[in-house]
Amino acid sequence: MTDAERRAALDAIGAEVAVCTRCRLSQTRTKAVPGEGTEATEVVFVGEGPGFNEDRQGRPFVGQAGTLLTELLGSVGWTRDEVFITNVVKCRPPENRDPEPDEIAACAPFLTRQLAALDPALVVTLGRFSMARFNPGARIGQVHGTYRAADPESGAPGALTYAMYHPAAALHQGSLKATLFRDMEGVPTALLDARKMRAERPDEAPPSEPAASEPTVAEPAPAVADASAPMAKPTEPAAAIPGQPDGQNAESDQTDQLGLF
Ligand code: SF4
Repeated sequence: MTDAERRAALDAIGAEVAVCTRCRLSQTRTKAVPGEGTEATEVVFVGEGPGFNEDRQGRPFVGQAGTLLTELLGSVGWTRDEVFITNVVKCRPPENRDPEPDEIAACAPFLTRQLAALDPALVVTLGRFSMARFNPGARIGQVHGTYRAADPESGAPGALTYAMYHPAAALHQGSLKATLFRDMEGVPTALLDARKMRAERPDEAPPSEPAASEPTVAEPAPAVADASAPMAKPTEPAAAIPGQPDGQNAESDQTDQLGLF
């Protein structure tokens, strides 16, 4: 799929989300929040649902937690423009309650289609509802800062998934801020491992050389071999840029963001 085709697919999904009435959240939202970012990325960040400001602006992660997410990205040399950011549910639950299972199920096809268009190498889950989609049965207190092959049913069968707390959690519990930054250090390494895993897939054509303008990628860390591999703890952080390997690229007071832990 070309970048233009990815963009067209994402725009079409966004247009559907904007007028969606598949679940009760459509009755109380101000604006649906499909997500935003570049189509030419290897990395997708998935939060849980829009908060107060997101609902008004129609954009993900635009409040305090969004500022923290931007800082987290910056801590590894990335920007929002280099990734794609979205949520499990695209409309704000009233009073920022947790999304209900039927609401998550109703909205799931949109995320599935976004993932199909983006074909990310790495999905970074922010909070437990997002984690549950890609790493069902896990407990975030045990798996944050680690990665593994994404559940094929998640919509990203060729990706690794990296679990993090939701940035808004650090707004409620200050000690988690250091944890978030520590966990973020492992994300570039996870991306390198994801690239290696995808390059080793028998049905995957080897990626073309990076564009001359792209930063050099550091030596990859040991790869996660397959979906049955145990949870891998990131090793040394490595510089990487989250662009597609074919060289085409590269939530408000979020204190009320959903599913913080
Ligand atoms: Fe549609 Fe998802 Fe919004 Fe529910 S949360 S109305 S399924 S876009």
